[in-house]
This record gives sequence, C-alpha cells and structure tokens, in this order.
Amino acid sequence: MTDMTGWSVERLHDAYSQALRIDRVLYDSETEHQRIVVFDNATFGRVLTLDGVVQVTERDNFIYHEMLTHVPLFAHGTAARVLIIGGGDGGMAREALRHPLEQVTMVEIDAGVVEFSKQYLPGISAGAFDDPRLDLQIADGAEFVKTTAGGYDVIIVDSTDPVGPGEVLFTDHFYGHAKRALAPGGILVTQNGVPFMQGEELAGTLRAFGTLFSDASAYVAPVPTYQGGFMAFGWGTDGAARSVDEATLRARVAEKGLGFGYYTSEVHKAAFALPGYIKRLVPDPA
Ligand code: SAM
Repeated sequence: MTDMTGWSVERLHDAYSQALRIDRVLYDSETEHQRIVVFDNATFGRVLTLDGVVQVTERDNFIYHEMLTHVPLFAHGTAARVLIIGGGDGGMAREALRHPLEQVTMVEIDAGVVEFSKQYLPGISAGAFDDPRLDLQIADGAEFVKTTAGGYDVIIVDSTDPVGPGEVLFTDHFYGHAKRALAPGGILVTQNGVPFMQGEELAGTLRAFGTLFSDASAYVAPVPTYQGGFMAFGWGTDGAARSVDEATLRARVAEKGLGFGYYTSEVHKAAFALPGYIKRLVPDPA
C-alpha cells in the first residue's frame, strides 16, 4: 500500500511508522506550538494527533491514563495534591480526579489542545474540566516547576515526545525542579515513550532520576497506538512506595470502590517486572 492519501501516517521514527485511516476529519489547525488534528478512525474511534504523532484515542487511552495515575496514587496511599504537566486532552485529570484528592493542578502549554479537546474529545476528559478541584493553568510546565511553592504528593508528566514544546520536559533541569516541587514521600512519574524504539528517552530520564531519587525505576504497559511494544513510565521517589505489597494495594482499591479497564493491584506490581531490554536502561541503585 503506497498511496497513503486518506491516512494519518506517523513519522516519529525514521524507518518505522503506523498509519490510521482517516474516516472523518473533525479539526485540523496550527497553534503557535503545534499542529492539532482530530479525526475518526473505525478501529480506535476519535484520534488526536499533535504534529502528526498519536497522542490519544478514544479506544485505548484508558490503559495509558489508568497506569500513569492509579499506580502512583494507590502506591502513595494518602495523596491530596497532584500536579499534571501537559495532559491537555483531560484524560489524566479524569482518572486522577476519581481519587478523593484536594486539588489537581494541570499545567498545559497549549490552550488550543484544551479547547478543542472539550469540543471534539469530550469522552476523554469526561467532565474533568468542570471539576472544582481542577486548577488548570496555561503555561510551560518547565517554567511552572521553577517557581511553584510545590507540596505535590504526585507529579505526572503527560507530555508529548521530546520534540517541539515537549523537549524541555525531558531535561535534568526540569526534573530537578520537579523533584523540589514534591512533598516528602512524593512520587514523580513520566511518560517515557516506547523503549524498543526510543530507549534513550527512558535511559536519559532514569539517569537523571538516579541522581535525584533513592528509588529510580520504570514500569510498563502496552498501549496499542504507541506502537513498538511496551510503553514505559519513569518512576522516581525517595519513599518506599514501590514496595507496597499487592494485598495492601488491593485493599486500597477496594476501599475506593473504583473499577478499571486495565489497572488491577496485580498488574500494578507486575508492571515493575521489566523485560531485560528495558531493565538494562534502569540505573543500579546508588
Ligand atoms: N499521551 C500522550 C503521549 O504519551 O504522547 C500525551 C498526550 S497530551 C495531549 C500531551 C500534552 O503535552 C499536549 O497537550 C501538549 O500541548 C503538552 N505539552 C507539550 N509540551 C509542554 C510543556 N512544555 N508544558 C506543558 N505542556 C506541554
């Protein structure tokens, strides 16, 4: 199939790509930061791409959003304040706000992503933007963490890949300021791409985490439209949250009475059991 007209062809990697058939374009616009396209696809439902790279789909976003919120939140156990960097589609805020948190601060650089997500992808945010606990700020996350008073129990970096506006969110400076913004025992988790295709992205994050945290690790989940195998999530904390046992996690889940499409207490623990080619990217504990 060489004629790819009518298809959204992702160019994240030089010689490996994925194509999603465009059944209907709903939005196609260039903001000052990136090109935003929303279209319908028979397999994945409504799809958002930023600069041609799949960010979120109606059909498989639950895996990604559940694993970047419920793993740190159930591991922490008593989180009250969460910071989300990026997350313009609202899916991360949706999942975080299912917990009895005091506040979720969401720092998104592109108001255009938020505005069209509300209109064209309402199922992703599912009302999160109307939750009174949500404090939405339109700003560069890298600048925000430099000046915030901090005190966050969990910080979630739900950014684009390290290209364009997202690039600054993969730097040691950003991670150092993010660490300072954590409350004692706080947890920093990051979207770190697909190591089979972009292992250096995770390796770079974990090198920085290794200098900042006593526990620098990663966990994984397969997200179909982040093609190339497991999606990796960076994990950094000075607490013992990663060692919370499965029975305790199960009790915390039961206490909250929440249901999930992907997350379970067993999957939570298993997600940190890394295959060899990913484990090699995790620094030995100092
Ligand atoms: N799930 C997607 C992934 O794994 O690639 C991420 C989705 S979310 C739409 C990514 C968001 O990060 C976008 O809304 C983008 O505008 C935002 N973003 C990129 N760079 C940013 C920055 N420096 N500060 C805040 N938000 C940023």
